Amino acid sequence: MEAKLTDIYGSLVFSEDVMRQRLSVTCYNAWRACIAQNKPLTLDIAHEMANAMKDWAIEHGATHFTHWFQPMTGVTAEKHDSFITPGEGGRVLLHFSGKELVRGEPDASSFPSGGLRATFEARGYTAWDPTAYAFIKDGSLCIPTVFCSYGGHALDKKTPLLRSCEALSKQAVRVLRLFGMTDVKRVIPQVGPEQEYFLVDKAVYSKREDLSLCGRTLFGAPSPKGQDLDDHYFGAIKPRIAAYMADLDQELWKLGIAAKTKHNEVAPAQHELAPIYADANTACDHNQLTMEIMKKVAARHDMVCLLHEKPFAGVNGSGKHNNWSISTDTGLNLFKPGSTPSQNARFLLFLTAFLKGADEYQALLRSGVANAGNDHRLGANEAPPAIISVFLGDELNAIVESIIHGTAYEDQSKKTLQIGVDVLPAIPQDTTDRNRTSPLAFTGNKFEFRMLGSSQSISGPNVALNTIMAEELRQFADELEGAEDFNAALAALIRRELTAHQRIVFNGNGYEDAWIEEAERRGLDNYTCTADALPHFLDEKNIEMFTRHGVFTKEEMRARHEIHMETYVKTIHIEALTMVDMVRKDIYPAATHAMRHLAETITTKRAAVADIDCTLEEALLKRMTELSKELFTTCHALENALENAPTGDMAAELRYYRNVIFSDMEKARAAADGLEVITPASYWPYPSYRELLFSIS
Ligand code: ADP
Ligand code: MG
Repeated sequence: MEAKLTDIYGSLVFSEDVMRQRLSVTCYNAWRACIAQNKPLTLDIAHEMANAMKDWAIEHGATHFTHWFQPMTGVTAEKHDSFITPGEGGRVLLHFSGKELVRGEPDASSFPSGGLRATFEARGYTAWDPTAYAFIKDGSLCIPTVFCSYGGHALDKKTPLLRSCEALSKQAVRVLRLFGMTDVKRVIPQVGPEQEYFLVDKAVYSKREDLSLCGRTLFGAPSPKGQDLDDHYFGAIKPRIAAYMADLDQELWKLGIAAKTKHNEVAPAQHELAPIYADANTACDHNQLTMEIMKKVAARHDMVCLLHEKPFAGVNGSGKHNNWSISTDTGLNLFKPGSTPSQNARFLLFLTAFLKGADEYQALLRSGVANAGNDHRLGANEAPPAIISVFLGDELNAIVESIIHGTAYEDQSKKTLQIGVDVLPAIPQDTTDRNRTSPLAFTGNKFEFRMLGSSQSISGPNVALNTIMAEELRQFADELEGAEDFNAALAALIRRELTAHQRIVFNGNGYEDAWIEEAERRGLDNYTCTADALPHFLDEKNIEMFTRHGVFTKEEMRARHEIHMETYVKTIHIEALTMVDMVRKDIYPAATHAMRHLAETITTKRAAVADIDCTLEEALLKRMTELSKELFTTCHALENALENAPTGDMAAELRYYRNVIFSDMEKARAAADGLEVITPASYWPYPSYRELLFSIS
């Protein structure tokens, strides 16, 4: 019998409710004070907490515990220890101490550290993040932790996220004080990531070396039918997919992940899952878990879940829409236009901070979504362009224009808008005519950052959004705190900054070439690939901002940058080696078989009837010979290029892998795809795009 949703939901989470039931009042209150006011926990409290966690976990079938963390690999890591301790007389005791809860020591010398550990010390340690709930997964009590070096350098994705949330809170609270909002103690970024993915049948998948090693197809001629008819988007969900989605929902709900929306996406075999938004830290943990569970549940259904940004050429790739807003601990969304003059002045100030930040830190936002997979999307004709701009929608844009020009806002009975004095005209939540081509869209009460890749951790982009916002609010607070006439200073600031940063606002179609030219005229950045975008992470102003707010040290930034560059190079390197392997082992033999068959057919036919027509066979044989030669030449060039790759200078490697290796791969692919088209299916070694994209009936 199906369990009730309310019973299932969060059943594997050591949540606030569970804590209230199982902890002493002292312990529970200490934990509350820790998360609400950042008060440290004593070891005594940790000890009681650990005991309660252990008892609860064992009752729920757990035998092990693990410090669950998010190293720079972008996936999560865990090392399991059982609760077992030997007791007297051969008995077994189940033990989990406060110390074990608070701090762990994974043997972590092989996680990427970008040189940090080498410079400082050999290993890192994990430390409990009490602001995130522990949970049970696969029989283990998972304790969300940060991962640091002994010198305190962040080696993970969670530490900077927590720091950035803190930085944003601090500056936003300063600004809110100016509006008389003294009851607000904290401000919390809220995130709802929409996750896209592909599902393919496991049997078909396992016949593709490229999919299993690289997560994407390196070859494949287009399917006669792709996404041309747009008949998949929001289409009826096939029974096998529906069963998967239902199973997935159950697993996510058990972990308190509020999976809410599911639907088919544009490409065949592509789907999307969106949770209800949560605070950024929880949202990030949950998205990592969601990606992991998506894959696990797919395996149970004899399918494979592909999270790569571009598994298939010629159909849409997968992204992740990062819906981001900031709210107060009193439950107020600061990007929601209000209904009084003061609320609206506040809204306009936060909006201005966002626009100024997006303009000033374009390169940082762009570099945070740069990876090998996303290079296939950004700037291509489906995802947002590689240029950062902000969509405001007609109403809000008209308001911004009227502030800048001091002109009457149309709907406002022909008078100019007095910030802090007038009520804003209604800004309807723009749900129907949403501009899907904008990388950063205002959607009523939040910004939707649409450039993230589907496989990416959402940590980096949110660290950037939070810190950028913190920096802008800091500047505003500095200026306004000293103002004699607050309303006048506020109005002047908003007008000045909106005017200075208006170029970042673009409400048109981001896919058009005209926009690229227009953006260039406006002086906006356009970094079309990872090799161009990544280095900007280390721009002086980014270092200054991150260090000022205590989000990264300079060493941490350098280390991270090195890891990102290395990851890019390694990814392309593995793809290129896989490609060469597939060509040599499978495609050459297939092509030579097919050509031999044609040659033999011609000989046999002519032996039977001396002057018989062999136009078809000859034409095919010739074309196949040409393409085989082309494949041989390009693949050979690729092999040479791999051998001659520069070493020692990361930036040079990055460029080489983009400009030489990647472009050689494209050429080899074109030749191989040409061959696939004219080679009989029975000879071709791999399932076709048609079989892959329509593998699930
Ligand atoms: P769609 O973009 O598909 O039309 P929505 O915009 O309603 O759907 O929601 C998409 C995602 O945005 C969901 O994960 C939702 O929880 C999240 N979201 C909604 N409101 C906010 C908010 N104020 N802050 C952050 N995320 C939000
Ligand atoms: Mg959306």
